[in-house]
Amino acid sequence: MKPIYLDHNATTQIEKGAQSALLFFSSTATDPDQNFGNVSSIHWAGRKLKSAWEEAHEQVATLIGAPRGEEICFTSGATESINTAIKGAFFDYLERGESAANFHIITSAVEHEATIESARFCERLGAAKLHLIPVSAEGELDMAKLEEVLAQTRGLGKRLLSFMAANNETGVLFPLEKIAALAAKEDALLHIDAVQAPGRIEFSLAKIPADLVSLSAHKMGGPKGVGALYIKRGIKLANLLHGGAQERKRRAGTINVPGIIAFGVAAASKQNNFMSPELRDYLELAVRSHISGVHIQGQGVSRLPNTSNFLFDGVRGESLLMGLDLAGFAVSSGSACNSGSIGPSHVLLAMGHDKIAAASAVRVSLGPSNTRAEIDAFVGSLVKVVQGIRARKSAHIDSSHKI
Ligand code: PLP
Repeated sequence: MKPIYLDHNATTQIEKGAQSALLFFSSTATDPDQNFGNVSSIHWAGRKLKSAWEEAHEQVATLIGAPRGEEICFTSGATESINTAIKGAFFDYLERGESAANFHIITSAVEHEATIESARFCERLGAAKLHLIPVSAEGELDMAKLEEVLAQTRGLGKRLLSFMAANNETGVLFPLEKIAALAAKEDALLHIDAVQAPGRIEFSLAKIPADLVSLSAHKMGGPKGVGALYIKRGIKLANLLHGGAQERKRRAGTINVPGIIAFGVAAASKQNNFMSPELRDYLELAVRSHISGVHIQGQGVSRLPNTSNFLFDGVRGESLLMGLDLAGFAVSSGSACNSGSIGPSHVLLAMGHDKIAAASAVRVSLGPSNTRAEIDAFVGSLVKVVQGIRARKSAHIDSSHKI
């Protein structure tokens, strides 16, 4: 059977237009076009790239409703964007002679590791204060706790709020309009990790006036190794990389011209291009009607239209993933450790699951190319794999009782 890809929150296939741009701007020196230059060079080879590179800034700015392309700083991916937003704000505060202990990072317990680890680093390094806002069993942000922390920290120094638009594991959405209103009222900096939004749901600065926004090209049909950080005009961040004056002095290092232009092309194609939940709902209904003891994370709350996170009673995630992989389906677990094995997901732990359940979830994340036929094939295999695991488990229990 043809392998089927159902892991679009991990990464997406590059779109044709983005791939053409990537190749076009990686031409060999013998090409008549010679689009291989360094965009910072002042000679013809650099100059001829400039307008396409600048257009990519405009395309990404337009995608999120940013007023000016110059507010977009390209990076190596959202991990770098998030690190720059959090550490850059903290280091800028320190550079201005302020005390680290007066810098408060307020974020959630279910953010991507890039956010949580950057915040923990600031906490370890300089005793910045980290406030992790809990979530409910459904994955919803505890807004009362956020308001309480904002009230407790009022007047105590600088506050940086960092929240994700949509959770990459469960798809649960955070109430960004309310968070942005609180940030404005409390005069706090606001960073949004909007990585999972483009191409799925609307995210616009017109509705959510954030100071900083992180994006990743490979989650929206662009190439890997490129990201962007929107930095609102007037917001000061210390640079993480020191060297040349690239990206308007905000990120040193030779510019990844092919990747950035390809990112711009992908961003333009995602403009006003959102997913319908139809196929996800079809999948969830089929799973529920064919398998007993299934729990869908965040099912009762606002979620991404492409993400389903399943837990099956009595079924360990590792065996399930292996079975599905053997059948040709690419889906994802809670979280993969560096060793390649599956560890408990910090997101599911924060939602109140125990360690075994938190290592047993299976995430299916759909893309625009997935079809009902693929979902039918997936559910057919899922039923067999889950039944097989449960049958082996009860046979094992029976035989151990005989001993
Ligand atoms: N934030 C979220 C919500 C993500 O899903 C990811 C990637 O999984 C990242 C940040 C990091 O993105 P990148 O792969 O571009 O570093």
